[in-house]
Amino acid sequence: MISWLRNRRRRKLLELPFPEGWERHLRRNVHHYQELSREDQAKLRDDLRIFIDDKFWETVDGLELTDEMKVTIAAQACLLTLRMDDHDYFRGVRTVILYPNPFLNRHRGHGPGGIVSEGGINSGQAWFRGPVILSWAQALAGGRDMTDGRNVVLHEFAHALDMADGLVNGTPPLSGGEQSARWFEVMTDEYQRLIEASRRGEPTLLDKYGATNVGEFFAVATECFFERGLWMRHLHPRLYEVLREYYQQDPAARGVGQRV
Ligand SMILES: [Zn+2]
Repeated sequence: MISWLRNRRRRKLLELPFPEGWERHLRRNVHHYQELSREDQAKLRDDLRIFIDDKFWETVDGLELTDEMKVTIAAQACLLTLRMDDHDYFRGVRTVILYPNPFLNRHRGHGPGGIVSEGGINSGQAWFRGPVILSWAQALAGGRDMTDGRNVVLHEFAHALDMADGLVNGTPPLSGGEQSARWFEVMTDEYQRLIEASRRGEPTLLDKYGATNVGEFFAVATECFFERGLWMRHLHPRLYEVLREYYQQDPAARGVGQRV
């Protein structure tokens, strides 16, 4: 019954015209949007409207919440699930909390199977069965620069995907045996490769923060997949392939990362 009501609310929402000004926010702040086909852009516009309506939005430190903030963040989050058949708009994330700038985190957050958030100064956090917390300044900068391989919104919402099965283990829900086997083999190899390269002090395409634990590895690999797809396909073809299969997207074919 509840899901029937939810679906009805969503249908009604999408019957309304796309709010004025939101397309401008997308074009200015979400550079990935411009790389998408017209069909994918239309899907993303629908998805982000549902996402925005679905979440509680809160701000801290006197930050005034605007539509620009919601659109910019929702579009980047929904890019992850754009082509997935079976998702429910990050259902486990009920609240998005925005700080104006990077914030001090006094806690180390632990989820089952791994550390979710580090203490210190953070640009973002994803809490297990809790909110996603973001610095608006970093969320905006990440949306505007899509080829630096860093994107705090993609990173934190990749954690949310990871947590969807109740475990924080760098493995989101997968379709079954063969995909899981490929995923486990490739992710384990690539994670070890990053740890060893970090120890030797070698330059790496993936941010070395990914060597922290398997949860961070998946989040960092996701940022790189969407932002430096061409490079990842070239330097880490097996990693690129398992992420392409999971996200059902091919960022390298969109030319993302060419300007690196
Ligand atoms: Zn992380």
